[in-house]
Amino acid sequence: MSFRDLRSFLQFLEENGGLVRIREEVPPVYGIARVEREYDGKSALLFERVKGYEIPVAANIFFSRDCVAHALGLEKAEVTEAIIRAAKNPTRVNEVTTGPVKEVVAKKVNLLDFLPIPKHFEKDVGRYISGGVIIAKDIETGTRNVSFARMWMKEENKIIVMINYYRHLYAYIQKAEAQGRPLEVAIVIGPDPVVWLEGGMPERLVPGDMDELEVAGSLAGEPIDVVRCESIDLEVPANAEIVIEGEVLPNIRESEGPFGDFSRVYDMPPRLNPVIEIKAITHRKNPVFLDCLPGSVDNLLLGGIPREADLLDFARKAVPCVKRIHLTTGGCCRFHAVVQIDKKFDFEPYHAIMAVLSPTEAARDIKWVVVVDRDVDPSDPKDVEWAIATRVRWDQDLVTIPKMASTLDPSSKGRVPSNLKLIYGAKVGMDATIPLEHPEFVAFYQKTEVPGED
Ligand code: MN
Repeated sequence: MSFRDLRSFLQFLEENGGLVRIREEVPPVYGIARVEREYDGKSALLFERVKGYEIPVAANIFFSRDCVAHALGLEKAEVTEAIIRAAKNPTRVNEVTTGPVKEVVAKKVNLLDFLPIPKHFEKDVGRYISGGVIIAKDIETGTRNVSFARMWMKEENKIIVMINYYRHLYAYIQKAEAQGRPLEVAIVIGPDPVVWLEGGMPERLVPGDMDELEVAGSLAGEPIDVVRCESIDLEVPANAEIVIEGEVLPNIRESEGPFGDFSRVYDMPPRLNPVIEIKAITHRKNPVFLDCLPGSVDNLLLGGIPREADLLDFARKAVPCVKRIHLTTGGCCRFHAVVQIDKKFDFEPYHAIMAVLSPTEAARDIKWVVVVDRDVDPSDPKDVEWAIATRVRWDQDLVTIPKMASTLDPSSKGRVPSNLKLIYGAKVGMDATIPLEHPEFVAFYQKTEVPGED
């Protein structure tokens, strides 16, 4: 079973040695991020005392792949297929009249004074809600979208939110703007871990006509309990810690950034982004704020695990020999992919490379792909390097694709400060499978085995 709220997951982590309580007082500016980096990939955290605030902060909750699997009530090897299945089999939400998130309802709060929102990095423009899930409804169809976006808490009741043009939420905003209307949004902080992961689902895997709270219910194994908001026409998870209600103001953009991003570089120069005006906040009596340090394992897995599912679903339809896909943590779970195939012909690795470097959403930013055989574990970096070392002929097994661009990759930014020119990058694919052209040589590539080991 998955966990029904953040605090039951934190309790599970603590009981299993996966949570460290930080009891000394920590400042929200840089202090939280310093400790998050120290425990990155090692442990979840609960900051009990944040200087100047009453509310504790949880962080690093997805510090390992095992941790994500536990959050879903699954084994590590089951996660990808479970996500693909859930995305195709939505479960209706369960509307309830009230829930823990309604324990305190407030219309007028200075959020900068109330919420322990951290400033993570030296050059960040300010304090960011980096782990907040945004729920919004398509104004025509009523379909609910659940997504992440970085949110700069610029003023006590005003957020500047970065939303990429290809996101469903951006399309929702544009539809509302075309009618001169604001788009109502609910920012959920500290939902249950399944709804949190849902925020990372790529647009192709969960298309715009699918209700993402229903997909989350399917992934959770039971419907998500939702309650109606106070000031806007939206439903939000009843078991969340905090919900901020607001609206995106139509046809207004303000400068946002720099922001230290998942890629561990700053996204800059500043972008012009939409503005959210806050109308109300509801929360539990003793709420927990959830932070997500950009570039941490927590942040990378949150984005990377749903992307792996999307890519596998896409690539194996195009090229059926594709069996597994792993996005490496070193490659920010975004730029580097290892693809395992069941190879029968020497052209198949190249078909797999083309699929995984294609312009579909989850592949758009991938710039390096290695294709391996069934005897190599794509999630084991040593095994992958072994395959590269013993199976790649550098003059024959590489393909490069020029004139590529990603605004996230500093080496191929399609957007430069002056906007006067594009800087193109390139993508590369590497065939690290055993060549079949000379069947009599295949034996040279076989791994050594010890009889009886397994
Ligand atoms: Mn969506």
